[in-house]
Amino acid sequence: MPKAVVVGSGPNGLAAAVRLARHGVGVTVLEAADGLGGGARTTEKLVAGTLHDECSAVHPTAVLSPYLRELGLERYGLRWRHPEVMLAHPLDDGACGVLRGSAEETAAGLPAGDGERWLRVFGPLAAHVETTAGDLLGPLTRWPSHPLHLARFGLRAVPPASLMRRLWRSPATQSLFLGAAAHVMHDLHAPMTSSVAAMLIAAGHRFGWPVAEGGSQAITDALTGLLHDLGGTTETGRLVESTSDLPEADVVLLDTTPASAARIFEGRLPKRVHRAYHRWRHGPAAFKVDFAVRGGVPWRNAACAAAGTVHLGGGPDEMLRTTCEIQRGRMPAAPFVLVGQQYLADPSRSAGDVHPVWAYAHVPHGFTGDATTAIIDQIERFAPGFADEVVAFSAKNPGELARGNPNHVGGNILTGANDPFQLVFRPRLTLHPYDTGVPGVYLCSAATPPGAGVHGMGGYHAAGRALRHLERAKGGRIRVLQPDSGG
Ligand SMILES: Cc1cc2nc3c(=O)[nH]c(=O)nc-3n(C[C@H](O)[C@H](O)[C@H](O)COP(=O)(O)OP(=O)(O)OC[C@H]3O[C@@H](n4cnc5c(N)ncnc54)[C@H](O)[C@@H]3O)c2cc1C
Repeated sequence: MPKAVVVGSGPNGLAAAVRLARHGVGVTVLEAADGLGGGARTTEKLVAGTLHDECSAVHPTAVLSPYLRELGLERYGLRWRHPEVMLAHPLDDGACGVLRGSAEETAAGLPAGDGERWLRVFGPLAAHVETTAGDLLGPLTRWPSHPLHLARFGLRAVPPASLMRRLWRSPATQSLFLGAAAHVMHDLHAPMTSSVAAMLIAAGHRFGWPVAEGGSQAITDALTGLLHDLGGTTETGRLVESTSDLPEADVVLLDTTPASAARIFEGRLPKRVHRAYHRWRHGPAAFKVDFAVRGGVPWRNAACAAAGTVHLGGGPDEMLRTTCEIQRGRMPAAPFVLVGQQYLADPSRSAGDVHPVWAYAHVPHGFTGDATTAIIDQIERFAPGFADEVVAFSAKNPGELARGNPNHVGGNILTGANDPFQLVFRPRLTLHPYDTGVPGVYLCSAATPPGAGVHGMGGYHAAGRALRHLERAKGGRIRVLQPDSGG
């Protein structure tokens, strides 16, 4: 039986491990942290019984992912729960942009004129997003399976978000769009910054923005359960720093940053790959705060009280200003804050009347200050009295995020800056983005296509390359790592 080692147990690492194991490969996953899951972990903290997502919370890309859907993870306990409202973006004047289930429902709730435009833009994208998912969640450098649908998507994805927002008149609709675009974590004046919004909104209108019952950990537990059933093994507390930390294997998949991959395989990567991996840029950071809140957040706007996700960044001009400032390394007084109220769709996460509220602010790369007060102030701005209801909270600054996960360099939770070049050519300019140039060694993290998000598609594609290598090597097995060679 051929052997594989997967370094890192994030959604991409586990997805890669499962694909290999399903093809009869003996897989071992090595994880540096004490628990499995990387960006899909949940802990009980602050108050007995409240469950807090440590990283990812809301899963439009997981339900869009053709691979995760194919795995039937429901058999391993994964249940999606949908909030009544997907997303709300309140403004100071009481107006609110609201993203609901379908494009039609959303359009009906938007101001006159904007609704028709919303439907014209997102109706066709949502109608075809399932067909296009394989192209959207794969390398953009290969020939697409559905070129026309992808071209239609590209029309909406390529313009800067600052330009696209002009399709709509009201500040509420513009902000709704810009808040979704801000997930790209880049200056929204740059080309391609509409891409993430186009995908998240289209996926939302087709599949929703669900949460996993019991927390995002349920995604990790389901993938791990499947992997173990297929004979794969997992080991935690195993930081891999060089090939001498790796057991014997025919293929190695790295759910790591490109720079870590270069360090682990120091001296073995082709020079051009080594250089490209060290040139990979990491973008702005997150500052995360988990709250336990008695009675939930006292929102002024009713839509916010029903929304799984609330974006707090004020109107369109403010949104554009703050994303630009953060890109330039300056911390705005009122940063863009994302609030998750997963307990609305999944009450199992609350302890009686005390609810877990998840929040993070976009802050500059490597930000060393404390953004807790800025986050609380931003919530208070739209929910006066919030601070009085907070029973307990805990904060993680970019440095702590990076210490908890080596992929979050400088607190950048996307494993790389989403500038226009890196959005397309990740992690380097090549037709084979998962290949490291060392036969049998592949990169599979969010630094590879399609980028950040819980979808496992980076892992799926990288495992495909590894299986191809094993197929070619049949009969004359190629060992990437010999037991006695230290690499
Ligand atoms: C605060 C926050 C909020 C987020 N919100 C969402 C959201 O709502 N929805 C969404 O879809 N996505 C969200 N994300 C992003 C999402 O979590 C990531 O894009 C996704 O987890 C990336 O998966 P991955 O497998 O590439 O890497 P990761 O999930 O980062 O996992 C990488 C794993 O590899 C391990 N590792 C790295 N290097 C080594 C090494 N050398 N040796 C051993 N182990 C190693 C790490 O410890 C880690 O466990 C969020 C992330 C954060 C941090």
